[in-house]
Amino acid sequence: MSVARPTFKPTTLLALCSQVNQVCPKCGRPLFIKKAKNWVKDYEIAHIYPLNPTPAELAILLGEQKLSGGPNDECNLIPLCFTCHKLYDTDKTLEDYRALKKIKERLLGQDAQRRIQYEYQIESDIATIMDALMSEATTEILDADYVAKEIDTKLEGEISNLTKQKIKNDVSSFYLFVRNQLAEIEKTVPGQGVLIAMQVKLFYTKQKGLKLTQQQIFQNTVGWILSKTPNGTEEAAAVVAAFFVQNCELF
Ligand SMILES: [Zn+2]
Repeated sequence: MSVARPTFKPTTLLALCSQVNQVCPKCGRPLFIKKAKNWVKDYEIAHIYPLNPTPAELAILLGEQKLSGGPNDECNLIPLCFTCHKLYDTDKTLEDYRALKKIKERLLGQDAQRRIQYEYQIESDIATIMDALMSEATTEILDADYVAKEIDTKLEGEISNLTKQKIKNDVSSFYLFVRNQLAEIEKTVPGQGVLIAMQVKLFYTKQKGLKLTQQQIFQNTVGWILSKTPNGTEEAAAVVAAFFVQNCELF
């Protein structure tokens, strides 16, 4: 007996569309088009694991892992543009299923990180450091060989060479500048610099518990710092995160 396709609540549709930033996660086509003064819906909700699998789908998906919940659970639903939905549901292959499931897992991970970013606090002085970095950062070079060795020892996990080299460059160029900024904060409010370091450590401990790669943890830390500093740039947040790698709060 086939399972009925439910009518989704407006809040569910809103949450699913906002999860994909209102574009089809397969091709980037906007999910809404404006005609005259009205928005027109240009998507459908797709079931990642089929709601009523055909015998052919059952055969190719035999033993495949499903996302948690039933077929109509939000974890198994994703908005797609009409073309991508049609393509996905026509002659489905195992690769199609795995690719869409992977996209959904990444989106669910991003949702989880947004909640963590909100829950984990960092003192607002972090914005002062970011402002200083963006407006008056001076380069005081640390011995590049020494930095490279230190960073290589800490980053032996899964992290790209590109990110590792950027961390080394940022530490070598701006470690002393960020340390001086923290010292200034500590002078003004004793204990504040230590508190910031502890908050970074706490955030790292949470990330480590999620069994993420070093690459993901570093990127999530950059995202977290950025989320606490409305006027900050990703570049400056990466410099602050690199500082905490060298300072041992991260990794
Ligand atoms: Zn599409």
